[in-house]
Amino acid sequence: MTDSLKEIGKYRDFILFMELLALLHDVGKYYEEVKKKSGKRSLRPPAYHNTIGAFILGIERLKNKDVVIEKNNKILMSNGENYAPIDLSSIPFRISSRIFNESFNFFEEIIPDIWKTEEFLNETIGEFLICHHEHYGYKSLRAKTTPQKLLSKADSLDSAEDREGALDRKNRLKRGDFLNTPFGILDKIEYRFKDEENILNRIASALEEKNFNKIFSKGNYVTLKNEIQKVWYARPADTRPPFNDTTLWNHAYMVSSIFKSTVAITLLKREIIGPGKIASNLGILSVQSPNRHFLTMVNRLPDYNGRWEVFKEIRRQVRHLIEFEVPLGNLVYEDINGQYFLIPYLEFRGAKGPDYSEIRDRIVEIYQEKTDGLLLPRIKIEKCEIKGKILQIGKTIIKLKKEYESNIDGMIGWYYFDEDFRKPKWIEEWKGMEEREICQVCFKMPAEKQHFIYHDRICKWCQQRRESPAKEEEAKFLDEVMDKDQRFALLVGQIGLLDQWLKGDYICTTFVNKETGLTKSPSPSRMMRIYQEIDRFDKNIISSIKKNFQLKRLKFRIDYCDPTGRKTKKDLAYKIYRHRLEKKWLKEVVKEYLIEKGCLNSDILNNTAGKIFSAITYNGKSPHLDLFIRNTTAETITDYASISDDKAAWPATEAVKRYLEKFKDTINFEFKTDIGEILRLKITDLKQFNEEGFVNGIKTVSKIKSIYSFSGEFMYLVPANEALNIANKLRDDFNRRYYKVQGRLCLNLGIIYADHKYPLYMVLDAGKRMLKEFQVANGLETEKKFAMTGNTEAYGIPALYKKENSRILVDFKEGVFKGEVQLINIDSRVVKLKVGKGREIDDKFYPYFLQKINGQVKPVYIGKIPFGCEIIFSPGVFDFEYLNSSRVRMNLTLKKQYGQWRKRDSLFPLIHTRPYQIWKIENIINAGRQLRDARPSTTALENFRELLAREIYDWFKNKEDFPQSEDKELVKSLAQVLITTMEGLKKEVSATLLNFSKNLEIFDLLELALFLNAFDFS
Ligand SMILES: [Zn+2]
Repeated sequence: MTDSLKEIGKYRDFILFMELLALLHDVGKYYEEVKKKSGKRSLRPPAYHNTIGAFILGIERLKNKDVVIEKNNKILMSNGENYAPIDLSSIPFRISSRIFNESFNFFEEIIPDIWKTEEFLNETIGEFLICHHEHYGYKSLRAKTTPQKLLSKADSLDSAEDREGALDRKNRLKRGDFLNTPFGILDKIEYRFKDEENILNRIASALEEKNFNKIFSKGNYVTLKNEIQKVWYARPADTRPPFNDTTLWNHAYMVSSIFKSTVAITLLKREIIGPGKIASNLGILSVQSPNRHFLTMVNRLPDYNGRWEVFKEIRRQVRHLIEFEVPLGNLVYEDINGQYFLIPYLEFRGAKGPDYSEIRDRIVEIYQEKTDGLLLPRIKIEKCEIKGKILQIGKTIIKLKKEYESNIDGMIGWYYFDEDFRKPKWIEEWKGMEEREICQVCFKMPAEKQHFIYHDRICKWCQQRRESPAKEEEAKFLDEVMDKDQRFALLVGQIGLLDQWLKGDYICTTFVNKETGLTKSPSPSRMMRIYQEIDRFDKNIISSIKKNFQLKRLKFRIDYCDPTGRKTKKDLAYKIYRHRLEKKWLKEVVKEYLIEKGCLNSDILNNTAGKIFSAITYNGKSPHLDLFIRNTTAETITDYASISDDKAAWPATEAVKRYLEKFKDTINFEFKTDIGEILRLKITDLKQFNEEGFVNGIKTVSKIKSIYSFSGEFMYLVPANEALNIANKLRDDFNRRYYKVQGRLCLNLGIIYADHKYPLYMVLDAGKRMLKEFQVANGLETEKKFAMTGNTEAYGIPALYKKENSRILVDFKEGVFKGEVQLINIDSRVVKLKVGKGREIDDKFYPYFLQKINGQVKPVYIGKIPFGCEIIFSPGVFDFEYLNSSRVRMNLTLKKQYGQWRKRDSLFPLIHTRPYQIWKIENIINAGRQLRDARPSTTALENFRELLAREIYDWFKNKEDFPQSEDKELVKSLAQVLITTMEGLKKEVSATLLNFSKNLEIFDLLELALFLNAFDFS
């Protein structure tokens, strides 16, 4: 580590202390109070929040003047000039400590020499953070000292970037009870004063004791910041909607980040710089890697889980390095493929400094160590752009993002080749291993051995990922997901066009108000908020509906004697009702009981145990247990039993029954004797589970399991018969939440139905291919040029007004929906905005469509879209794929191609029938219901499907780009022949089937019909 970087590490406590003070600078932003404006003079909000902040932090003197509390419960300052008519009773708390009245001198031991100026040491820490405005507010509250001016500059740099050009205070809308979301929906403001008071008191007492460890040690500081984030995340930093979409947290965090880097600059330069020098000495350190691919390239659940763990750990460590270990600055933006840190970027004479090569090495080391080089970062440091006086951190991040992501698809082997290229560690793995097969998971390292469950040959690293144990609550069991017919579904979703937002292209379309001339800029706070909002969308909805999809997971514990008579306590945990796990314990228990009763001779049983009890399975709404007694009959058991001494011979069922009798208060059960070989014991109800030695608890778990969810892309396992309901819930909530940006954000959804016996990796693979199709549908697969939207390849849609402001006819010209027509009803909420009590105004901030004028795309206010003009619209798509049909349609194999193993769908060429628009899905569902009403037999439909699929396969198996339009006709005639000749298909059915056969939608229709047949949807 270079000396200057070591110095930074040495003064960690000081840097974090200054960061913390900066984080608290707007502690008095108490919006409700500002809004009231009850005073005689119209005072500017900044002055209010400074005074309130001083009050909250218990500051007694500002600029050597006493802060006085007037008798009639108003804040007043002693010189009389600074009368701030704030009603004290409306301020919820004041901290109990007086520590903010201490000067920096009190903390001398952590202060670096260059900061030990008389000016700084004599300044109180409270005054430092409160006097953070240089140009407005009360004279006596203005920043005077250099440290105050530095903080003041950090504050104004962030405000200016966030509200570029938005300096018109007159056009403030008075709707202060709301906070704007980045997409224009109003959210309730939330105050959590009690929590805030607790946190501030904790900070104060740690500072009083000079216990820096308590707040600035590893972990503690992260926790503290997270807590502050929670209380400030739904509170506005700005009084002007819709600019209050960046919250008090966002603003405070950015200011503290800029200030933290400023302190680091002074330590690197060994001088306290002037406020004018901050902007020109900042840069962005970007750490980018193809994480989306890394996380989703696998198909096995343990591989997903393992990679997520590694990914989260890498992120945590890199962040720890830059924010804590060598505290240069903070993470100011992140999304799935990158982390972006604000750090010092000094221009020393002769060289660009400082030398960060060691930081780069450390980051690469973290990646190499955690992934063996399967994932390697591109690390680039870019000087922050400055436009006029505005620091453009966001634009700098966007530049880095575009640079990287435009190359991501073309990167050879997923590495970014530039001056920073480091050799991935895995290459060494091949030394002396040239004859080895390649790992079938990562396709990079030599395969070590065959996996014991999945039988694929994988490398050491991938093996370790699979072995990393999942926590019990994260364990995903299909038998918990599946419905009463033992089917489950994979719900796949993706929020389309998000990339356009995260690359900054769409941000200005949320707010283009011609009357005020205000536009929103892609500031890091705003981009971060967009990312977080989308990242949470599905998680919030799924967690809100999870309680409707619960079941009880049983935890068993049983005392039993093994055949040698040794008494053992076995913790069966939740495993007992899972046929694929530890079934032997119950077997042992039953065996033990039979032996104990003397019904069975232990030798005989030992020899035949494997043949007796073989499978225990769980299904259904209320917990019950199936015990299959396989390969044996009551007679055989009786035979075994009769060999034992003088006890009466019991049939096996009887024995088990008696065993369970001691739990008759807790278990209801019934016996079924199926044909011939299988005896079935069914426990129909489990009542209470507090009996000593038997059960140690019931845990409530959800039937909905997340495979993964990030950046608006997700996969959930859900019960099959609920999949449509859950999908519709997501769809409705999406429309409710993002209707203001329709056409610029869309939701793509897909469902894959599967039988519980179907291999999960096939289901997940189908899900991945579906996501790929969504990407094609959104036109996001190729890189777009920077423009309002370069996305015209996706949809250039002529739109005609049919009625004013309420309906648009959209005619799709390109893409998978070519030739489709859709009617859009424009929600009245898009045009009107509720303000105050029952009052509405025109919403000029959000309701825009993108209009194509002379090849250029511009936002146009919804009320002014001219008749017949061309607009850009991005519809949500909804996709059905029924896995049963994949028996023919999909056959996943591995083939070696150009020396690498590749997965291939070998049976069927690619079919372009999907995805569908949402309304079309409804047509298919209705047709499915018609079929059901016509009651064709399930067998007839299945036969039809199989025959048609086989015929199509035989006809088209050698074609590469099936289907062409003439192929579609051929398929239609094929279907016609089959329909007319097949037995069991009624005439009423034929027309519906034929209607759908043209585009091969028939397979989806058939699957849906069969699906609806299988479930009771009434
Ligand atoms: Zn591997």
